[in-house]
Parts: sequence; C-alpha cells; structure tokens
Amino acid sequence: MIKVRQLFDYDSYTYTYLVYDSVSHEGILIDPVSAQIDRDLKLIKDLNIEMKYVCETHIHADHITSCGRLAEELDAGIIVSERAGISHPRLANILTKSLNFGSETLHILHTPGHTETCLSFYTKGYVLTGDALLIRKCGRTDFQGGSNVQLYNSVREHLFTLPDDTVVFPGHDYTGQTSSTIGEEKLLNERLNLSISQDEFTEIMNNLNLPYPKSMDEAVPANLKLGIN
Ligand code: FE
Repeated sequence: MIKVRQLFDYDSYTYTYLVYDSVSHEGILIDPVSAQIDRDLKLIKDLNIEMKYVCETHIHADHITSCGRLAEELDAGIIVSERAGISHPRLANILTKSLNFGSETLHILHTPGHTETCLSFYTKGYVLTGDALLIRKCGRTDFQGGSNVQLYNSVREHLFTLPDDTVVFPGHDYTGQTSSTIGEEKLLNERLNLSISQDEFTEIMNNLNLPYPKSMDEAVPANLKLGIN
C-alpha cells in the first residue's frame, strides 16, 4: 500500500516527500533539503525504509539538495532530468519512465517550463509536481531555461490528464497549504485553470515582477553537483 509522508523546510518553504510501500518498506525520497538531512535520515531509519531512489523534481534555485549525500549514505539510485547534464555513478537511466518500489510504481513525467529540468512523479492516487504546478499557482518561468509555452503544455498534457481525484503534492507552498487535487486545480488554479488560454497565461507570467531569487547563485551550482562538495 502506498504511503506518502510530507516534510517541510521552514527556510525555503520546500516540501520533501517520502513515498513508500508499507508492505515491503521500499521507498523513494523526493526533493530532500541539505539542512534537513539529519531529520530525514532519522525518519527513514525509524520507519525502516529501504531507499530505492532519491529524486530531484528539478535543479532548485532556492535551497541546496542532499540528494547526492543521501543516495550514497542509503545506497540508493539517483533520479534527475538528463537535461541537467549531470554525471554520477548512481544516476539511473530515466528513459524507462517508471520506477518500482515494492509492488508499486512511480511514473516519471517530463513537465518542463518552470525550468528545463522539471520532472513530476505520479503514483496511483498521488502526483508530486515540484514547481510545475503549485496550489492555485505555478513556478516562475523566467530562469533556468523556463518557458511559458512549455509550462502551459506540460500542465495541460501531463498533469491535467490525470484523474481528477489525484492528490497534488507541490514542491512549495508559501501560504501554509499542503495539498490539492487535479480536479481542484483544473477549476481553481489562478494561472492555469481550464478557462485560461496560452496567451492569457503568458500575459500573467510576464507580469509577475518577482525579485531575483536570493539563493540562486549559490544553490544552482551546488545542485548541479547534487549537493556534494
Ligand atoms: Fe523551483
């Protein structure tokens, strides 16, 4: 049976997810944050999880990952978009598009647009969307190979085609919300609901006037090395 545990980093408002099969205890960790490595290792040990993969939804600009360190410590594979151009002996070939954990399957969806490296992960009943789809919002598209056109198409073609009752677990939330559903976002997402056209979405994204991400110059180079010094 699939279990999803949501973890939070207060500094970067990042959600980390532990997805596991409660029968076999095989698991997958998504978007771990360097500053929380001790917490995450303790939880994995407490729950007796055998980690199969540590995954990055994209090359993050707002925190440093512990992906590389955890994969080594836990003897797990690494999943990151091939578009990041990273080489590491534990890097799994994601052209297979699905990962097994126990008797369950996690499907890899290519959902570029927030960045060119964005992946989402779908398993029965749940989708982990990184910053492609946030609750009522979406990630910005003005850095790291981002594209309004790509993000709009990614969400419409790969996320909004999932069952309406699929729980959406985002990469961040800045308002204290924890999850949504595909049906809710199709109706209520302020930027991407089904009544919004590609041109309207582009107009919205071109007028966000967001500040330069404060940790980007430090985080991106570190994350291109999977957080390994
Ligand atoms: Fe991001």
